[in-house]
Amino acid sequence: MDKTQAKNPSEESGDGALGMDAGITRRDFLGGTLLASGAMLLESLTPAELLAQQDEFTGYGGVGEYSRSNGNTLPVLEAGHKIRKGVYDPLPKDIVETSETYDCVIVGGGISGIAAALFFQRQAGPGVKCLVLENHPIFGGEAKQNEFLVDGKRLIGHQGSAIYQLQYPHSFLARFYDSIGLTAPKLTYQKWGGPEPEMPLSRNPYEAVGMEHGQYGFWFGARFDQKPCVWVQDPLGRKLSGAPISEKAKTEWLRWLAHEPVVGDKFEHPKMEGDAISRYLDSITLEQHYMERFGLSQETVRTFLSPVAGGGSGLGPDALSAYSEYAYEMLHPLEDDPDVTDQMFPGGNATIARLMVKSLLPAAIDGPNTVEGVCKNNVNFAALDAAGAPARIRLLATVVAVQHDGDPGKAERVNIAYTKDGKLYRVQARSAVMAGGSWTTKHIVKGLPEAHAKAYEQFYRSPCLMANVAVRNWRFLYKMGMSGCRWFGGFGDYMEVQRLALTGVEEPTISPDSPIVLSLKVLYSYPGLSTEDQGHRGRGKMLGTSFREYERQIRQQFTEMFGSAGFDAQRDIGGIILNRWGHAYLSPQPGFFFGKEGKPAPREVLRQAPFGRIAFANTDLAGAMDHRFSILEAKRAVGQVLDQVLES
Ligand SMILES: Cc1cc2nc3c(=O)[nH]c(=O)nc-3n(C[C@H](O)[C@H](O)[C@H](O)COP(=O)(O)OP(=O)(O)OC[C@H]3O[C@@H](n4cnc5c(N)ncnc54)[C@H](O)[C@@H]3O)c2cc1C
Repeated sequence: MDKTQAKNPSEESGDGALGMDAGITRRDFLGGTLLASGAMLLESLTPAELLAQQDEFTGYGGVGEYSRSNGNTLPVLEAGHKIRKGVYDPLPKDIVETSETYDCVIVGGGISGIAAALFFQRQAGPGVKCLVLENHPIFGGEAKQNEFLVDGKRLIGHQGSAIYQLQYPHSFLARFYDSIGLTAPKLTYQKWGGPEPEMPLSRNPYEAVGMEHGQYGFWFGARFDQKPCVWVQDPLGRKLSGAPISEKAKTEWLRWLAHEPVVGDKFEHPKMEGDAISRYLDSITLEQHYMERFGLSQETVRTFLSPVAGGGSGLGPDALSAYSEYAYEMLHPLEDDPDVTDQMFPGGNATIARLMVKSLLPAAIDGPNTVEGVCKNNVNFAALDAAGAPARIRLLATVVAVQHDGDPGKAERVNIAYTKDGKLYRVQARSAVMAGGSWTTKHIVKGLPEAHAKAYEQFYRSPCLMANVAVRNWRFLYKMGMSGCRWFGGFGDYMEVQRLALTGVEEPTISPDSPIVLSLKVLYSYPGLSTEDQGHRGRGKMLGTSFREYERQIRQQFTEMFGSAGFDAQRDIGGIILNRWGHAYLSPQPGFFFGKEGKPAPREVLRQAPFGRIAFANTDLAGAMDHRFSILEAKRAVGQVLDQVLES
């Protein structure tokens, strides 16, 4: 089918036809009390607005170990809001002294925090003790997964951090992967099953293999005054024929889609951090860069590329440093061809987080220290925080203050206060690593030197909603001859049917009748506004929209796009999980990476040296969101603690 005249079901069908009331299993209502207190936490919402949402923030969380931890949870947002409001400044008197002292306390149990604990344990040797404090119900940070049970089958999707790359076999990162049990990083993926002709499928949500096989679709809806809406299949091969846009826009957009720069383009990728080209790129926006290289108008960039291009940094190209597109190349993945080098577990880098925890605390996950072992077996939560263990991970613990016990230049201890189960506790440490991310670190480290505080003021993080939609089959897409598609306007931007990596949990084959998870990554870009304003506005929208409203939008979007191919939202959707990430991405503005007007780059101020006994980690210090940077920043921070802080 080349061009499908889809009917507009939103006109024809109400909530019932969309399946909004089909089965309580999709939703998991929160108690009213929790939401009433939650009303205080969302700056952009009044309590009345929040209450009007009728207990609809969290929604259904799926099954299994991650079911209470989809995205940032409401209690985490609530605690964050209290921190920002200064509720713990000064600390209340009724703080409980735990009398615990650690050699290192690590704030944040994402990939960076767990990596920091591993490096600390491995390098500092026997006898030292560290504690990771993490505010969610499970470790992993943005590297978590969702699990559905659909018609008796367990389906897994990623919540955030998705792919990893093959690295040079003797590189630090490859050896690190090997050391945590990722001994065969090139994964084996599902094969085609069933009698019908095979359709090539991607191995991750970004690969879009259908583009090169003519099995991809672009959908133009109400935003383009298309009623009924228009599908354009094989947009690249058919040169956007049938797209309801001007010839000029088609020519420009095709250049970008086909990676064909303008004639005479002499652009060379940066060779190393800080060379002349990387500094130039950091002085302009990504939008300017695309306009220069591909001869695009600003309108084309903002209409068709935003927010998908530049999406690895959470906003559209207008707000980002052009270097943000190339920062990842400095990690030197093994192959130039991303189709070969990019790998993904069904739950994304949640598997890497699980492998790391298993290495840190062997009793924390049953079974062997292998991919299959950590994917098949459950977390033994009691073993995460076992008294006397050299490393401990304490969950549901939000750190609210990290303060030297006296003059930071001379103090021998750092006091760390955290809330857990409604109580405030204090532990002491000889050193601390802040791995939670800029948006909390800047508030909770007390007495930050002015240069550090000013540096953190230049870290802007943007929201992201990852909606995982379990469907009972994807025959509707197969029937339309598409393995993936993009759309312009409405809920979301693109989706992809994926061949899953085999970890011992998945079916070995995939066919159009297989139940799958379709992941819709939603970014909130408002081209023309400042980076900071885009983040605020997007967060307000994402946190202020109820689960039910988002569910309705998803069901409507799918019905509008696929109704004509037999998709029935009521019958075909097996579950929806929303993962709301309030501060998902660092969105680096021009000047972030190498500084401007003679001032140092903000990240360098924080990386260069610890502040007293406190060192800084998290991927955002690299200016690029990638679990490899999380690991490398942790390595540096722990190195600083060992080299410069711990005297014995
Ligand atoms: C939608 C999305 C897709 C992504 N895709 C990829 C990808 O494909 N590949 C890739 O490599 N990377 C990807 N990333 C980037 C991702 O950020 C990194 O891979 C990595 O997971 C970040 O780990 P981290 O530990 O540095 O930070 P985080 O994962 O943010 O971990 C920090 C943890 O500390 C907690 N914390 C913060 N403050 C406190 C406090 N005061 N007290 C206690 N705990 C606290 C946070 O809640 C969080 O759990 C993606 C990110 C997003 C949002």
